[in-house]
Amino acid sequence: MTREPRTPLADLTEDQLESLYNQLDAHVHAVARRTCLVPGCLKQYDALAAMTGDQPPSPELAATGWKQLRTGSIFPTGGNICPTHADLVTTHLPRRLKTPSGRWTVDCACGWSPLPQRWHRLVAALWEEHILTELGHLPPAPPLTDPEHRVPLTDHTEQSLAELYDRLWDAEDEMAERRDASRSFYQAWQDQNTLLNADATHKAGVHNALLSLRLRIRHVDRDWGQNATDAGIYALLIGWDCEQQHQHTGDCPAALNDIAEKYGWSAAVVKTLRKHRAALAQAGPNGETDAQVAREMGED
Ligand SMILES: [Zn+2]
Ligand SMILES: [Zn+2]
Ligand SMILES: [Zn+2]
Repeated sequence: MTREPRTPLADLTEDQLESLYNQLDAHVHAVARRTCLVPGCLKQYDALAAMTGDQPPSPELAATGWKQLRTGSIFPTGGNICPTHADLVTTHLPRRLKTPSGRWTVDCACGWSPLPQRWHRLVAALWEEHILTELGHLPPAPPLTDPEHRVPLTDHTEQSLAELYDRLWDAEDEMAERRDASRSFYQAWQDQNTLLNADATHKAGVHNALLSLRLRIRHVDRDWGQNATDAGIYALLIGWDCEQQHQHTGDCPAALNDIAEKYGWSAAVVKTLRKHRAALAQAGPNGETDAQVAREMGED
């Protein structure tokens, strides 16, 4: 770094002092100057004056009409667009995209998109090339994907062949992604189905065990209300109340409250018995199952 040689105060002239101030101003302002991101555009504004609200050193450095591109766009530190190019950049607003294969491309607002690149800073350069093409400063790009424009072997270069392979590999990666997605979807569906089947098998087992118990109890010739233990077992496995899905009438069995009174069961005990009976009625055969069997056999 070179430094201005220091002049002692005793030797300093008015001109030298003004020159010092001018040099200082130039340095400070150079740091604060922002240039338009459109390649070839040399317009600048004074960011320091824009921030402080001061007058810029000259009117053409005013921030009026300038627009900013966010940081993290294809320009990692953001970007500034002069009023002349504000519309152009809005029409071609660039959005950085990562492909499934981990490469980078740009989604331009106009619909243009370059071949994916492995190094993300390349896509900013490709977008600049696109802008220069749109401005007519560069000749139009040759079409890439049109099969009518397949490049004959004699016209291929190492570069064009590398691009062709890049396109092929990206297409292959995309296919693999899609295949993986459908495979994992199928696997999830199959796992879910296995779970449902296991659950159904488990439920059928419980149902059959309860049916077996119910049949054994029903065919025992016994008054199940004769003692509290039997009454409790009956309350759980058969139920003292009607379980048919219909409008209950005075003929429907509804003996649980009487049984509870007979053996002095508390309201809490009755509530628990009803809860457990409801669970078993749901899992296994119940009064409605019996009624249905009777209806099907023409007994109703
Ligand atoms: Zn510009
Ligand atoms: Zn564009
Ligand atoms: Zn009933």
